[in-house]
Amino acid sequence: MSKVKYYYDKESLSYRKIERKKRTTFKYASLFILAAAFFAFIFVFIASQYVESPKERALKRELQNTQLQFELLNKKMEHAEAVLANVADRDNNIYRVYFEANPIPEEQRRAGFGGINRYKNLEGFDNSKLIIESNKRLDILQKQIVVQSKSLDEIAELAEEKEKLLSAIPAIQPVNNKDLTRMASGYGMRTDPFTKARKMHKGMDFTAPRGTPIYASGDGVVVRADSGSSGYGKHIRIDHGFGYLSLYAHLYKYNVRKNQKVKRGDLIGFVGSTGRSEAPHLHYEIHKDGNKINPINFYYGSLTAEEFNKLLEHASLENQSLD
Ligand SMILES: [Zn+2]
Repeated sequence: MSKVKYYYDKESLSYRKIERKKRTTFKYASLFILAAAFFAFIFVFIASQYVESPKERALKRELQNTQLQFELLNKKMEHAEAVLANVADRDNNIYRVYFEANPIPEEQRRAGFGGINRYKNLEGFDNSKLIIESNKRLDILQKQIVVQSKSLDEIAELAEEKEKLLSAIPAIQPVNNKDLTRMASGYGMRTDPFTKARKMHKGMDFTAPRGTPIYASGDGVVVRADSGSSGYGKHIRIDHGFGYLSLYAHLYKYNVRKNQKVKRGDLIGFVGSTGRSEAPHLHYEIHKDGNKINPINFYYGSLTAEEFNKLLEHASLENQSLD
């Protein structure tokens, strides 16, 4: 029930009812509603600055959890990086050195990705930095793993080659020389048995009775078994590959033919005194890339350090060669 208001009319000297127009009532009502809405809006706005809605709280928690998970992931990446760095270190300093491959430079192992910005679609968010950094880190890690994997492939190949090289390279004495008494003359300046002049003896002489077995000192192919080279008499040449060739001279008899494949330790012929030879003996040479080198360094396959020293002593005696 609305209040009825009166006013005093001086002319009629009586109280009269104040008639309120409908329009005025509507105007006041509208104003009130507007003002109420305005203050309500201000209130909600201010409140929302200080009070979180349940939805906001849930989102915030989720964001915090995501950030935490990213941090944990980064920790794991750090660990993976450390393990990989250790593998790379061993790779460079042990495996690659052992198989005579050049170490892979650090820049190549840790190279990122140049050129176009791969992370453009990750930009423009509050967490962009975190996400981009993590992505970069993982990309580099992935690339490092690829580099490492390729390096190991290369090493596996080299290891296989090395195995072949190790069985091919001359590595035993060509005659049975258990007590090491067969060494007659080594590599170096020696007196020529015929002219008595000093000259370079580019091989090793093993003294042995005619018919003593001669063995291939490494795997290879017989490239010559003839007496066509002056001075050597009946002789055998074995090509071992990798630039190595062994030569056995002054033979009495052959046990192999040209083009025959031989293994280390195979019986290839017998000691004799054919060609330019003073007495039955085996003249043994090792060629590397066409040069005659000292065979003394190629007996590691069958000698102990002590035996090697004894052999070295015998071989370095400045005596007369048997040629
Ligand atoms: Zn000789």
